[in-house]
Amino acid sequence: MKQKKYILQESEIPTQWYNIQADMKTKPMPPIHPATHEPLKVEDLAHIFPLECCKQELDTEHAWIDIPEDVLEKYKYYRATPLVRAYALEEALGTPAHIYFKNESVNPLGSHKINSALPQCYYAKQEGTTNVTTETGAGQWGAALSYAAKVYGLEAAVYQVKISMRQKPYRSSIMRTFGATVEGSPSMSTRAGKDIITADPNHQGSLGTAISEAVELATTTPNCKYTLGSVLNHVGLHQTIIGLEAEKQMAMAGEYPDMVIACFGGGSNFGGIAFPFMRHNILDGKTTEFIAAEPNSCPKLTRGEFRYDFGDEAGYTPLLPMYTLGHNFRPANIHAGGLRYHGAGVIVSQLIKDGLMHGVDIPQLESFDAGILFARTEGIIPAPESCHAIAATIREAKKCIETGEEKVILFNLSGHGLIDMTAYDNYLSGDLTNYRITDEEIQSNLEGTLEI
Ligand SMILES: *Cc1c(COP(=O)(O)O)cnc(C)c1O
Repeated sequence: MKQKKYILQESEIPTQWYNIQADMKTKPMPPIHPATHEPLKVEDLAHIFPLECCKQELDTEHAWIDIPEDVLEKYKYYRATPLVRAYALEEALGTPAHIYFKNESVNPLGSHKINSALPQCYYAKQEGTTNVTTETGAGQWGAALSYAAKVYGLEAAVYQVKISMRQKPYRSSIMRTFGATVEGSPSMSTRAGKDIITADPNHQGSLGTAISEAVELATTTPNCKYTLGSVLNHVGLHQTIIGLEAEKQMAMAGEYPDMVIACFGGGSNFGGIAFPFMRHNILDGKTTEFIAAEPNSCPKLTRGEFRYDFGDEAGYTPLLPMYTLGHNFRPANIHAGGLRYHGAGVIVSQLIKDGLMHGVDIPQLESFDAGILFARTEGIIPAPESCHAIAATIREAKKCIETGEEKVILFNLSGHGLIDMTAYDNYLSGDLTNYRITDEEIQSNLEGTLEI
């Protein structure tokens, strides 16, 4: 009998997150202050984020960090998530590869984002915060944060990228259902939003504009902290619960991945599934290949440059050393809203420089081809973001047909696409297009960054 699903008992759920910074041979460069270029310390971040998150952000010493008891109890409402062997997909492709996916779509919010929303709200509450703010692109992070805020008795204010609010109106409804206040960004409710609208009245918004507005609200409101669903080190840390579970489940399957693949917006689901396995490349001589799949309309991993750049459009955040397309970069309005971010995050950028992983860029149509095949074989409609991971997996599985190799490929299914059916409708009626940007566009956007 073929076994398809690998399930962990509650008692087997890991009780610590894995902090790869502690094991990295080359530590990531520090974030720096935009005016003084001084490396930032915990105190410099603590007026924006919960203190515990700031400590985790800059922690390059402790490889294992305890998951607070209360967060672990909340995790148990939906964790452990299943690891699944995708036999039907393998068969449809005719590949000798063994394809596994970790299914992070099976929680009430529908994506991996809840894994970090819960601890961020927990720490905020512990520290006496009453309000949290954030930005959201496709709406998954906003939905997860709105729910987690409610769980911990916090008020949530969410800035949602304007274009995605129109593409995915139900995500705003979800956030409001959980009790959050939702505004389209750029909005007239912050100085940053007003400036952006004044410069361009038709601005459709981006993660960059929404981050600027949420940070401004957090820094000008008492007892209010900003939270982020991607990019930062502490977010990737919380997501390592994915890979740590997967490691146990792969062992149950009697296999170890030759390749680990995830889609890439700011790197949290990628880091979440990849870092626990990458640990064995760094420490134990394993040779697993790590692939981050980005949209080719927003190719910071494959065509961006390593610079100090702002995390947001208005320039409110510290400067981060990362592969970037420039903070003014305006990605095309692709449906994978969660992948429309200009930078790669600090840890991943260093890992790319060190040759421990690499990016691959996927055209929009190829991502939906992959998503449709996955839906028709495995019965799950993937989020447009996750389709990029599936497309990269299919590319690798097809290579195995040529070489005859039985590679073990593990990918992360970061979320389901049930609230993204407009995107699928567009694809099915032939209305979707590919977007590719020119080298000139990339170069001109990089002008506002700092060379390293
Ligand atoms: C937010 C999101 C992403 C992209 O964010 P990462 O931090 O790169 O993981 C990918 N998939 C889904 C379903 C998301 O909600």
